[in-house]
Amino acid sequence: MTASIIDGKAFAQGLRERVAQQVASFRAAAGRAPGLAVVLVGEDPASAVYVRNKHKATIGAGMESFEHKLPADTSQADLIALVDRLNADPAVDGILVQLPLPGHIDERAVITRIDPDKDVDGFHPVNAGRLATGLHGFVPCTPLGCLMLLKDQLGDLAGLDAVVIGRSNIVGKPMAQLLIQESCTVTVAHSKTKDLSSVVKRADIVVAAVGRPAMVKGEWIKPGACVIDVGINRTERGLVGDVDFAGALSVAGAVTPVPGGVGPMTIAVLLRNTLVSAHRRAGVAYDKDAL
Ligand code: NDP
Repeated sequence: MTASIIDGKAFAQGLRERVAQQVASFRAAAGRAPGLAVVLVGEDPASAVYVRNKHKATIGAGMESFEHKLPADTSQADLIALVDRLNADPAVDGILVQLPLPGHIDERAVITRIDPDKDVDGFHPVNAGRLATGLHGFVPCTPLGCLMLLKDQLGDLAGLDAVVIGRSNIVGKPMAQLLIQESCTVTVAHSKTKDLSSVVKRADIVVAAVGRPAMVKGEWIKPGACVIDVGINRTERGLVGDVDFAGALSVAGAVTPVPGGVGPMTIAVLLRNTLVSAHRRAGVAYDKDAL
C-alpha cells in the first residue's frame, strides 16, 4: 500500500485565494482593507524570514501589512507600549509578535497584553480558554491548518481515534482541543508517555508535533491512518519532519510531506484569522464555509 501525499502547499494556495476574494468584498463593504501588524524584535535569521514571508503573503492577499522591526535591546516597556498603540489603532485587525523574543523580555507579559480580539495567533490565554470552552475566538494557526487538512482528507472525523504527540501551548494542546470538538477520541502523548509506539498504533489520526527528526516510525502506524507531520527539523539531510516519511508512506492512508505539508498552512490560516478579525470588528458578515 502506498499512502496518498497530502498537498498542503496546494490547499494553502487555495485558502489564500479564497481569503483574497473576501478581502475584496470586505474592502467594498468597510471602505478599508483588513490590517495585520507584525512585530519583530532582534535579528534572529529564521524569524526574519518568517516575518518577510508573512508581509509578502499579507500584501498578496490585498491586506494592509504594518511591519515593526525593533532592535534586539528594545526594553519590555517599549515593546508593551507598541502593543498598546496597535491595540488602539483602528486600522489594525490582527497583531502578531514574532517569537522567540530576546531573553530579557517576558514573552507571557507581551502576549497577554495583546487585545484578545486582535490576537490572530491565538496565543492569548483568553483565546485558549475560548477554544477549550467552545466559544468563538482565535485558534493558533498551525493546529487549525492541520485540522483543515484532516477534514479535507477524511471528511467527518467523529468517532475516530486521534493521537497528538506533543503538548505545547501553540500546537499540541490546541490540536487536541480541536479534535475533541470534532468528536474524536483524543490521546495526548508527550515525553513521559509509556510505550508510545503502541499508543500511536491505535490511532486513525496521528498528529506529530515533537521536534525530533523521523521519530515516528512506519511500523508504529496503523494501516490506513492519516498522518499529519508538524515537525520542522533542520538536519544534514535538509528539512525533515517528526515522521519517518518513507516508512509512513508504505503503511498510512495519507501523510503530509515536510516541507510542503503543514508548513504552508500556517501563514494561510494567519491571513484567514486576520480576515475574520476584520469582519468581526467591523460588524460585516463573511462566508465562513469558504474559509
Ligand atoms: P515544543 O518543544 O514546545 O513541544 C514539543 C513536545 O514534544 C513537548 O510536549 C514534549 O513533551 C514532546 N516530546 C519531546 N520529546 C518527546 C518524545 N521522545 N516522545 C514524545 N513526546 C516528546 O515544540 P512545538 O510544539 O513548538 O513544535 C513541535 C514541532 O513542530 C517542532 O519541530 C517545530 O519546529 C514544529 N512547528 C512547526 C510549525 C509549522 O508551521 N509547520 C509551527 C510550530 C511548530 P514534554 O511536554 O513532556 O516536554
